[in-house]
Amino acid sequence: MAISAERIVGSELVDIAAKVEAGERLSREDGLRLYATPNLTAVGWLANQVRERWHGPKTYFVRNQHINYTNICNKFCKFCSFYAKKGGPDPYEMSLDEVRRRLEWHKDVPITEVHMVGGINPRLPYSYYMDLVRTVKDVRPGVHVKAFTAVEIVEIARVGKVSFEQALADLIEAGLDSLPGGGIEVLSDRVHSELFGKKLNGEEWKAVARAAAKLGLKQYATMLYGHIETDEERVDHLIQLRELQDETGHFLTFTPLSFHPEGTELEHIKPLTGDVDLRNIAVSRLMLDNFAHIKSFWIMNTAPVTQAALWYGADDADGLVHEYEITYKDGEWGNKRQALTYDNMVYMIEDVGRVPIERDSLYHEIVREQPVTPKRTLIPLAQA
Ligand code: SF4
Repeated sequence: MAISAERIVGSELVDIAAKVEAGERLSREDGLRLYATPNLTAVGWLANQVRERWHGPKTYFVRNQHINYTNICNKFCKFCSFYAKKGGPDPYEMSLDEVRRRLEWHKDVPITEVHMVGGINPRLPYSYYMDLVRTVKDVRPGVHVKAFTAVEIVEIARVGKVSFEQALADLIEAGLDSLPGGGIEVLSDRVHSELFGKKLNGEEWKAVARAAAKLGLKQYATMLYGHIETDEERVDHLIQLRELQDETGHFLTFTPLSFHPEGTELEHIKPLTGDVDLRNIAVSRLMLDNFAHIKSFWIMNTAPVTQAALWYGADDADGLVHEYEITYKDGEWGNKRQALTYDNMVYMIEDVGRVPIERDSLYHEIVREQPVTPKRTLIPLAQA
C-alpha cells in the first residue's frame, strides 16, 4: 500500500494511510481531516482496508424484532419524532398482553434477538420493566433480549427507588442480555443542553455503561449525526467511546445513526444525503480501532446506501427489523419499509459482492441446515 498510497488516496491523506497500514491509532487531528477532505472515496477506501482486515468480505446480520413499548415521554428531545405530542403521534403504552401478541405474530420467523426501547413514561412501575423482559423470554425462550438505553435505565431506577446498578442487576435476573446504544446521541455538553437537556448527560451515560460492564452486560454504541453537531463534536464523541472501550471492552458494535428531521422540532434542517452517511461509517471504522464491528442501519440510511457502506467500513447490515417505530411509522414519509425478508437481506449483501453471515447478538455465526424463508413478500430494495 505504501507505494501506491499517494495514487490511491491522494497526497493529503498519505500520512493517515501509512498509519492505517501500520495499524496505528488515529489522532483527533486525523479524524478532523477525514471529515474535512473532499476525497470521500479515499476515506472509504482506507476504511475498507480496516474492515477487510477484521472481517474479510463477511457481512453480518441478525433476525430481530423491535418492540417500542411506549411513546409517552417526558424528555421532549428536539430531534425526536417518536414521542407523543400535539400534532404528532398518538400516545400509547403496550400492555404485556399486547407485547405477547406482537411476539407471537412473528413466531414463524426464527428470530434470535428482541430489541426493546421506549419513551420515558413515568406512569410505568418498576415491575413493568421486569415483566416486559420476562414476557419476551416466556414467549421466545432462548432469545437474546437487548433492551433499555441508559436513559431508560436511570428512569427505571428512579421509579424503583434503587440505584441504577441495582436496576441493572434486577433486569439481568429477569432475563436482560445486553443494552442497546442510544440515549446520549453525541457526547457533547453543548449538544446536550441545546437538544436533549432533560436527558442524562455524557458523564451519567458513561457511568451506566461502566456499571453494565461491571455486571458482565454487553452494550452497543451509537452516534446520531446530521443535526447541529460539528465535525469536532463527532470526532470527540468517537474518541470518548474509544477511551471507554479501552477501559471496559464491553461494546460490541458501533452504529452511526442518520438524523431524520421530519416530524421533529428541527424540521428546518435539510435531510442528509448518502455521502454524509458513508463518510460517518468510514470515519467511525477508522477512528474506532477497538470496536470489532461497524453497523450500517439500513432503516435509517436506506438499503442502497447500506449496500455502498459495506465497501466504506461497515461489516454489519443490522437485521430484518420487524416493527420499528422510532424514525417513522410504517407507511409514513414515502412509504418507507420497516422489514426485510431473509431473502432480501441476503440479496442486498450478495448483490454488492459481500458474503452474508447470519449471526446472533454476540456475533456467533448461525449455520442453519436449510435457510428458513418465512412467508413474507419480497420487497424491492429501492423501496427499503
Ligand atoms: Fe423521549 Fe427518547 Fe424521544 Fe428523547 S429521544 S423524547 S427520551 S423517546
